[in-house]
Amino acid sequence: MNKQCSFLKSDMTRCQAYSVEESDFCLSHDPNQKDEKLAAVRKGGQADSYQSLKLSLPAFTIKEPQDVVPAVIQTINELREGKLPPRIANTVGYLLGVALKAFEVAEIDDKIEAIDRIILERKTRK
Ligand SMILES: [Zn+2]
Repeated sequence: MNKQCSFLKSDMTRCQAYSVEESDFCLSHDPNQKDEKLAAVRKGGQADSYQSLKLSLPAFTIKEPQDVVPAVIQTINELREGKLPPRIANTVGYLLGVALKAFEVAEIDDKIEAIDRIILERKTRK
């Protein structure tokens, strides 16, 4: 049935993808698949792009971590109402996760700065 792609990556490990039928390579590495892949990529891109879907969804305002919750809920509702294709909802979900992570990092940075200030104050007091 499905075999592993024979393509060797630059680190000399084998590509983990399955090979396509009657080939030793996956869709990305089979030299005979270049045109089919391009067509598939183009088709996929068109189907899921905002422009071609003509979506007019309300903008999110995310100024603090708490704003991520309504954005996630809005995305869930738009997905369930069929306004948002699953692939785009998935991307939005991922990006909301990135935003949340950025808030976390910023918060840690603020805490470290505060701790640094306290340590410095104690040192100068002596
Ligand atoms: Zn491959």
